[in-house]
Amino acid sequence: MISGNDYLAQAPFDIKQLPSLGSFAVIVVGGGAAGVSAASNLARKGHDVLLIERYGFCGGGAVAGMSGTICGLFLSSDSRKNRAEQVVFGFAEQFRKRLSEMGGLTEPQKYGKTWTVTHDPLMWREAADGFLRDSGVSILFHSRVVGVLREDCSVRGVIIDSKSGFARIESRLVIDASGDADVVHRCGWASSKGRDGVMQNPTMIFRIGGVDIDKYKSYWGEDTISPQHVVDALVAAEANGDFHLPRKKIWIFSTSRPNELLVNATRIMGFDGRDLDVTNPLDHSEAELASRLQIREYAGFLKARIPGCEKSFIVDSGVEVGIRQTRSIVGVRRLSNSDVIERKKYSDGVVRCPWPIELHAGDKPRVEWLLDDFYEIPYSTLVPELGENIIVAGRCLSAEHEALASARVTAQCFGYGHAAAVAADLSLANDIPLRAIKGEEVRDLLNKEGALLD
Ligand SMILES: Cc1cc2nc3c(=O)[nH]c(=O)nc-3n(C[C@H](O)[C@H](O)[C@H](O)COP(=O)(O)OP(=O)(O)OC[C@H]3O[C@@H](n4cnc5c(N)ncnc54)[C@H](O)[C@@H]3O)c2cc1C
Repeated sequence: MISGNDYLAQAPFDIKQLPSLGSFAVIVVGGGAAGVSAASNLARKGHDVLLIERYGFCGGGAVAGMSGTICGLFLSSDSRKNRAEQVVFGFAEQFRKRLSEMGGLTEPQKYGKTWTVTHDPLMWREAADGFLRDSGVSILFHSRVVGVLREDCSVRGVIIDSKSGFARIESRLVIDASGDADVVHRCGWASSKGRDGVMQNPTMIFRIGGVDIDKYKSYWGEDTISPQHVVDALVAAEANGDFHLPRKKIWIFSTSRPNELLVNATRIMGFDGRDLDVTNPLDHSEAELASRLQIREYAGFLKARIPGCEKSFIVDSGVEVGIRQTRSIVGVRRLSNSDVIERKKYSDGVVRCPWPIELHAGDKPRVEWLLDDFYEIPYSTLVPELGENIIVAGRCLSAEHEALASARVTAQCFGYGHAAAVAADLSLANDIPLRAIKGEEVRDLLNKEGALLD
């Protein structure tokens, strides 16, 4: 078991000499939506689970990146204009319900042809703490996975770095919920990045307070996507040189707090206009610097040009720039763009997704609706082509560029975590490899646990 904090750093480290922090049935790397779901669902089944998270709280892109809403719960439709129809359940629904009971969630808000709900980022952290505590997950915050224990192609645990130095932790299975497929990457196994290395733009999200919401809404309207007159105002403000606004189609959501809005507007690129790859720390640093400059431009525009925002001020921004896309693993199967567009369903589909392709590139993000339907994500997109005792959960699943622009949102990440937990449980209980698990069986069990996939 984990004890003490005085193990020493070794640099350069000899893996065999590293202090051991113990052994677990399963290590979950990363406490975003996928990791919280994976860890809680597995520990509920009685397994000894350790969740490792580099920050001091869970939430990842949803909280540190302040993405702010739970997308992917509801159908898109031209006809159901005034009714949000929920089609995704399971752990996503359990989390949604708990947040709602805590007062940390809004009612559904219109987002183009679909709906979404905004969450309070502090309550998101508290809800995650509650799920992990209730299910008995062991937690290591402020610890970063920096290496993998491996015998040939079999993962045997991870190496972490913390303020106390490097240490090793053994496990029978690892769930890589790092968002960036860090574990798969550190094993040296293949992954891809966007289309030919070009990934979706990051966004620094921020919240503004002091807004006269009624006045704002009578100008902006009910849809959280900027109406044409706001797009025109953004174009004019940039053309006049009043503000630097590289994105002209923006999203703004009401929050669960009075007089407050959540602003998803910035489009972060390098200072020389290049697309950034935030797995490179130099690009990542530039993204943070550019973000803080850009949120002031958008906040200034809102204050000067949007009725109701005259007295607004920035409450806070994400702890880090929001990262939509980095590595996607090369999985046993790849979710293709056509799978999404054709709304494919599979007997081994373990997660449903009704969310549109929401591709952030260029000055106006492209949104392609999947009207009145959803597609399914097969189990095998979570299983790396190479490597044993490892599975991924979350936005690093195996998917083509546009497909990922749909499949990456929070409700689905909760679902990937739940599916990975069910598969890991089957693997441990029957002593069979994760890649030999039948997606159909995972689906059946998810249904028994409330996923309502059939
Ligand atoms: C700007 C932006 C806006 C978005 N808007 C929405 C929205 O409105 N609604 C919506 O549903 N989705 C939205 N998304 C998408 C959604 O937020 C993410 O895709 C989702 O949160 C990903 O969840 P995840 O668990 O796969 O990964 P992440 O949330 O990235 O979680 C990974 C976790 O792993 C930790 N970690 C990473 N590496 C290591 C390591 N080596 N060691 C230890 N810990 C590690 C991280 O700190 C993090 O907590 C948005 C994303 C962005 C960037």
